[in-house]
Amino acid sequence: MLYAVLCDFYEKIERTTSRTLMTEYLVELFKSTPPNLIDKVIYLTQGKLHPDYLGLPELGVAEKLAIKAISRAYGFSEGEIDAKLKELGDLGLAAEFYCSRKRQVSLFPHPLTVERVYKDLDRIARASGEGSQQLKLSILAGLLVDATPKEARYLIRTVLGALRLGIADMTILDALAITYAKSKEARSKVEYAYNITSDLGYIARILATEGLEGLKKVKVEVGRPIRVMLAERLSSPTEILNKIGGKGAAEYKYDGERVQAHKRGDEIVLFSRRLENITAQYPDVCQYLREGLLAEEAIVEGEVVAVNVDTGEMLPFQELMHRRRKYDIEKVMKELPVTLFLFDILYVNGESLLMKPYLERRNMLKKYVRESEHLKIAEAKIIDDPKELEKFFEEAVEKGCEGLVVKSIAPNSIYRAGAREWLWIKYKRDYKSEMVDTVDLVVVGAYAGKGRRAGTYGALLMAAYDDKEDVFKTVCKVGTGFTDAELASLPDKLAPYKIDHKHPRVVAMKEIAPDYWFTPALVAEILGAEITLSPVHTCGWGEIKPDAGLAIRFPRFIRWRDDKSPEQATTEKELIEMYRSQLKKIS
Ligand code: AMP
Repeated sequence: MLYAVLCDFYEKIERTTSRTLMTEYLVELFKSTPPNLIDKVIYLTQGKLHPDYLGLPELGVAEKLAIKAISRAYGFSEGEIDAKLKELGDLGLAAEFYCSRKRQVSLFPHPLTVERVYKDLDRIARASGEGSQQLKLSILAGLLVDATPKEARYLIRTVLGALRLGIADMTILDALAITYAKSKEARSKVEYAYNITSDLGYIARILATEGLEGLKKVKVEVGRPIRVMLAERLSSPTEILNKIGGKGAAEYKYDGERVQAHKRGDEIVLFSRRLENITAQYPDVCQYLREGLLAEEAIVEGEVVAVNVDTGEMLPFQELMHRRRKYDIEKVMKELPVTLFLFDILYVNGESLLMKPYLERRNMLKKYVRESEHLKIAEAKIIDDPKELEKFFEEAVEKGCEGLVVKSIAPNSIYRAGAREWLWIKYKRDYKSEMVDTVDLVVVGAYAGKGRRAGTYGALLMAAYDDKEDVFKTVCKVGTGFTDAELASLPDKLAPYKIDHKHPRVVAMKEIAPDYWFTPALVAEILGAEITLSPVHTCGWGEIKPDAGLAIRFPRFIRWRDDKSPEQATTEKELIEMYRSQLKKIS
């Protein structure tokens, strides 16, 4: 197949924004493509060489190298080409310009074929290590020598990773259905096959070689990502429950990175939400799955969340992103441990679970997952009462989650791969109260430390002062921000105030249940990320909302305020004011 055919198509696509026309041009292109080339043609129109999930090297040649190749192929200086690039703002156009004025004319032109272009581009993408720049340069220059001006334009854009024709996957699916299946009903079959394989090239090739019948053998497979199911959004518990049939499963919406984990024996592959292979970022998660996912073959989904090394508390999403930027993954694993919260199972031991309703999948998840410190099943509760939903939501937020995802438990609550539908509804906050100032809070209780913190405290229960009632009301647990020395000295520092019951001036709910109580005496300066509503803390109870108090989210110990008496701590009233004045709309 001549590369010129593809380039004519690129040019037409660039000139239209109409989806109908794009589909027509695609159909035309597919009809003139031999079946064994259709996958490559599709990848090329998407500006790549392989489906993303394979994680194979893609094109992204440096501009400098492309300029050298143009210079070598057409006999103009790099300076001239650079100047043209500045004038036209597009190296593809500059290549086209010089190609049409080339100084070395080949006596025996070899028209470019798609086969050759694909093979050579793949060689360029894969070249690495010593001598690879020279190799890339000579392959690219070789292609340019045989190219027409229009082909030079698109070759250059492709190697730079800048083709960007903007053809949506759905448009390609439309065109595939029209070309090879010829019926509307077929469109959904084609789409389904794509949703469970995430590979347009693969689907196209089956259609082109075996027709619609061939799609029957397309199955969920370990190693090939399933396009993820997404959630709709509503902002009132009543609306959510109504939409979902009065009753649903509310799950914590963890604030981390979504992963789809594929397991076969000991081999684990992790895909991101965009279905890129991110296995290398999380060797620890792979190990947790090897140990805790009790099936020979399985595909599960969950959210990876950064946790505090010492307390196991969840950390904000930003912390997780530090992993991205670090290269020494072994070290980062220790400094920034993560927990995987699993919320779905899509496949197990040869059987696809996509068509099973939610509750059945959830049971399967419980059956095949052995929970451990770093591998958990998402917290969930079946709820039919808006008030209870609200309470569960506040609990989730306070623990470091973004909110809830409320999931349908109806018989049709299947896993809709690749779709955003009302089977899952997310409930996030519209407003948040960012904390800009620190507060001074009183230690009223503590939790025993585990692991590295055995023998000292894992977290302290902190309270604000209510100056009307002369009592102390709880507002957060703080386990972060202590130096090792401060941690080690905690037992001694707190020993004089230890009592075996809740102090009468402390107002706390029973859910808070610390392991130790103290007479309110010591004051610490605390900085949090924000103030949220809380179903378990008593500070500000009923002031903002009937059944909620206030909590400080992601609190961090700054220093002791030994100069302050407990009655000089931040008051409940001040915290309520801070909550109100720092309230901001979340975009
Ligand atoms: P959003 O990114 O706001 O559209 O919310 C959907 C995302 O929430 C999903 O893609 C997941 O990454 C994440 N998430 C966290 N917890 C859950 C859960 N329990 N169920 C489904 N998605 C969850």
